[in-house]
Amino acid sequence: MDGSDDEIGALRSKMDTVTMEMVRLFLERSDIAAKIGRKKMEIGMEITDESRESQLRQSVFDACKNSMQDRDMANPSMQSDVTSAKRSVTKFLNFLLDESIKIQTPAAARPATHLSMFAKAKEMEMAGRDIIHMEVGEPDFMPSSVVKDALAESYDTGRVRYGTPRGTLELLEGLVAYTSEKFASRGDKGGGMSPQNIMVTPGGRFAVYAAMSTLLNVGDEVIVIEPAWPAYRDCAMHIGAKIRAIKTTLEETWTPDISKIAQAINPSTKMIILNYPNNPTGRVLPPEMMDRVVDIASKHRLYVLSDEIYADYTSKPCKSISSYGYDRGIAVQSFSKSHAMTGMRIGYAMADTRVIGRMSALSALCLTSVSAPIQYAALKSLNTDTTKNAQTILERLKVLTHNIQQMGLDFVMPEGAMYLFARVPEDGASLAERMLEEYDTAVAPGVGFGQYHKYIRLSVAGADTDKLNKGTNRLKSMLIGESNIS
Ligand code: PMP
Repeated sequence: MDGSDDEIGALRSKMDTVTMEMVRLFLERSDIAAKIGRKKMEIGMEITDESRESQLRQSVFDACKNSMQDRDMANPSMQSDVTSAKRSVTKFLNFLLDESIKIQTPAAARPATHLSMFAKAKEMEMAGRDIIHMEVGEPDFMPSSVVKDALAESYDTGRVRYGTPRGTLELLEGLVAYTSEKFASRGDKGGGMSPQNIMVTPGGRFAVYAAMSTLLNVGDEVIVIEPAWPAYRDCAMHIGAKIRAIKTTLEETWTPDISKIAQAINPSTKMIILNYPNNPTGRVLPPEMMDRVVDIASKHRLYVLSDEIYADYTSKPCKSISSYGYDRGIAVQSFSKSHAMTGMRIGYAMADTRVIGRMSALSALCLTSVSAPIQYAALKSLNTDTTKNAQTILERLKVLTHNIQQMGLDFVMPEGAMYLFARVPEDGASLAERMLEEYDTAVAPGVGFGQYHKYIRLSVAGADTDKLNKGTNRLKSMLIGESNIS
């Protein structure tokens, strides 16, 4: 044993004491969080309070800066790296904030979502009820019959084996040709994709998960514009990343204030998620706004995950992140909506080769490869004319907006996607429950898309115009207090 062994021993013992104290404090903090959670439940308060989180974050930053300045003064030879300390401290704080949210959210209090309403509606159908589905974004029309032939052909031609994690070369090449033509027809330059820039996934949802889980670490922050598809928040929670929500309002026509995005960025921010045409509002981000977002992102080297799965369902100019050639941009696409292939589970991501490399490592780990016959069916469906699908959706949206306008509910005219997000005179979740139980009509509560309690999302994907008329009449009856189903 020499002197340095003694010194290490002493430091280790100090480290053990500090760690034990941190564990004790963490448990004490968890107890306090549980008490706050019970109180919030009692008085009906929201679990997440972003302004309170921001205050705490600022106090923690200040404390971090002060303590580092004190340390530097006490030891002038040591100059602290405040930015990297801030990054570590934010990660630690974000972990603590997410723990509080988890503790305070008992399973029973999880907000109703479009999926929970869908599950309930399906159960009611199994019990013999005839439900109008206006809650989910699942097209009720069939994919092209080309898909059926391709599945038979894939058997005959032996496309039944394991493949590579990024997808079959024939589909990757097909997607390069398809996307460049599509971008060109929209006047979007498309960013010179090659097969190496694409990864085929089992649906857009997996592409979102693959990007978030491979590009983010615990405690990193992700900016999401709300209202938003709930999976972004769920995914962040699952991987221990923190969502910084940029709230938009009906009064502002659901248009994000881009300066708020810039203000929300700190050393832990890693990604901005965009989804236009938007689920649930149907809004499209004007190209000049998208330019500003990409500008901010590239200044801070942030990833931009752009979920573009509704790009076919709009007549407005809608720019893809792929058209910027930004090395941290990821476009998510899917055959679910454009080609009505929801149950076939097939989509893709387009990004820089390094990003695709990281995402496909996850694919290799948990999927091996996407189903070969389904990839072949997707390839064949690229040559089918899907303009009729888009026409159907846009026509249905017209009928729905007309009906909801007649009812006098407030909403912003959807410019695309498959939804209308309407303000209702009562709590959207209890309205949705009553609509389903008493009027056999499923709608999605707004709370699932952020804290939009007095809203519901109406989908036109699963209801033709007759059903939409019936469904909206039922909504009207419910709001004015009639009890008959028409
Ligand atoms: N992104 C958005 C915005 C969605 O609404 C959905 C499905 N509703 C998805 C992605 C995922 O679709 P899929 O996994 O079927 O491709």
